[in-house]
Amino acid sequence: MQILADYHVHSHHSGDSDAPMNEVVESAISKGLKFLCFTEHMDIDYPEYPQDNITKNTFLLDAKTYKNEFLKIKDKYKDQIELHYGVELGLQPHVLEENKAFLSENDFEFVIGSNHICNRKDPYYPEFFMDRSEQDAMNEFFESTLENIRLFNNYDVLGHLDYAIRYAPTKGADYSYDQHRDIIDEILKQLISDGKGLDVNTKALYSGMPQPNPDINMLKRFRELGGEIITFGSDAHKAADISNKFDTAADIVRAAGFTSYCIFKDRKPVFYNL
Ligand SMILES: [Zn+2]
Ligand SMILES: [Zn+2]
Repeated sequence: MQILADYHVHSHHSGDSDAPMNEVVESAISKGLKFLCFTEHMDIDYPEYPQDNITKNTFLLDAKTYKNEFLKIKDKYKDQIELHYGVELGLQPHVLEENKAFLSENDFEFVIGSNHICNRKDPYYPEFFMDRSEQDAMNEFFESTLENIRLFNNYDVLGHLDYAIRYAPTKGADYSYDQHRDIIDEILKQLISDGKGLDVNTKALYSGMPQPNPDINMLKRFRELGGEIITFGSDAHKAADISNKFDTAADIVRAAGFTSYCIFKDRKPVFYNL
């Protein structure tokens, strides 16, 4: 059965996307989706990367402007697709209070908690992996994820659990769940005990990597430990990438033992058969 919902999508309201909201929605409709949730970036105190003109303000979300446009678009397409208002919130230990305040001031229907910054560095940039093994760098990434989700639980799914591997110098040639089993299990157990889910993020798949984030072994382990909530997300930053590689991801998720996936309404999961 086709996956009907893309729950990780960016538009021009995110600092790294120019996509007009209507183009994103029309792409989703043309691909047969019934549900789409915008999850614009909000990363408070993002590190500065002057080579890309990135400042600490680049990923600050203007939620008021975003919501105003969202409501217009939602109404415009209401007979064709159900649209939802979400956010991808960057987690860092020193911005807990700002993140809490931001969520209390806004009424998002779905919150992805994402570990983009690890000890003040984004693994997107090569310096994160410099002068050490990929395994050590990934271990630091997972440690920082665990710290974040132990400190903060006002989110619905954890975004792209092993995000950093997308940018590893060898793209994780010898990377596996087994290398990081203990720390990943701690993360998965924390998610389950907090009632949280996983974002099955297909961006790596359509960037030429063999697995989504997280990969099949992590998904299998999540299921084994009792995890039930997963959402599918293309992490599209342009309209054409909406639901890209969802068929491949659905096969992987089924093979990992899941029989359903979720959409979210008002921060609550609703299950659909896979
Ligand atoms: Zn992200
Ligand atoms: Zn994203």
